[in-house]
Amino acid sequence: MSAPLPSDVSFPARRTNLWLESRYRKLRRGLPQTIFWCPDCKGDRRRRQGCARCEGFGKLTRESVQELIARRVLPTMEAKAGRFHGAGREDIDVLMLGRGRPFVFEVVGARCPDVDLEALRREIEQRAEGAIELQPFVRVPRQRLVYWKQEHFEKVYRAEVALTGTPEPAALARAASFAGAIVQRTPQRVAHRRADLDRERLLRVLSLQPRGDTVLELRVQCQHGTYVKEWISGDDARTEPSLAALLGTGCRCAVLDVEEILTDDVPGPRLAEPAPPEA
Ligand SMILES: [Zn+2]
Repeated sequence: MSAPLPSDVSFPARRTNLWLESRYRKLRRGLPQTIFWCPDCKGDRRRRQGCARCEGFGKLTRESVQELIARRVLPTMEAKAGRFHGAGREDIDVLMLGRGRPFVFEVVGARCPDVDLEALRREIEQRAEGAIELQPFVRVPRQRLVYWKQEHFEKVYRAEVALTGTPEPAALARAASFAGAIVQRTPQRVAHRRADLDRERLLRVLSLQPRGDTVLELRVQCQHGTYVKEWISGDDARTEPSLAALLGTGCRCAVLDVEEILTDDVPGPRLAEPAPPEA
């Protein structure tokens, strides 16, 4: 027979893993989604000493969406680590607007998982000083991160296009009503880390408006995996047809924002019909 335990004995809390789903809006350019490790030393504790690229910092930016979240979640939940699983990612210089990009934040080894998630979310936003906004956190099963990794969604982008010449009115009208397939060879800027392939993607110009003599404002809907900057410039004829080819003048993407990710809960027409169910 064992003696009853004294009531004032405290046990170390068990550690548990949990998954928090949300969407982030990224409102500051230059903020990467995840930790931007230095490509030379990879942030390694020893190798980064004396690394000329990052000057010993180990990273190329001070913060990221991941770190803005982790720095509040981990201490609040007394967790060991956090992992960020985004539904895709935008380039570092691209804003993420609209309803934001879905993600799952995996909390590893939390001692205090039962915190006020809404207070935590507000604290993250406050400390981020306008760089990010978050939808309310929802605790989800682990499978949700698999869902967001596997699914592909069309997107709407807004771009400011810098022109080297003045397009003919007819060419401008043609480009403004473009809808159809484009073929993109892997862009030169990512060719070192992606297979060199031709990819066909559907794309529709939603609007194309002059903003002064040398700038156009473009809104475009495209399938997942479309390289929008390269569709604008043509990337030395690796993308066809490009906006530059349609306009008959040199084009460069000066500013780019993701205006919306067309997840299943966003209404509106899609470029590609969903595949019919298997018989
Ligand atoms: Zn380095």
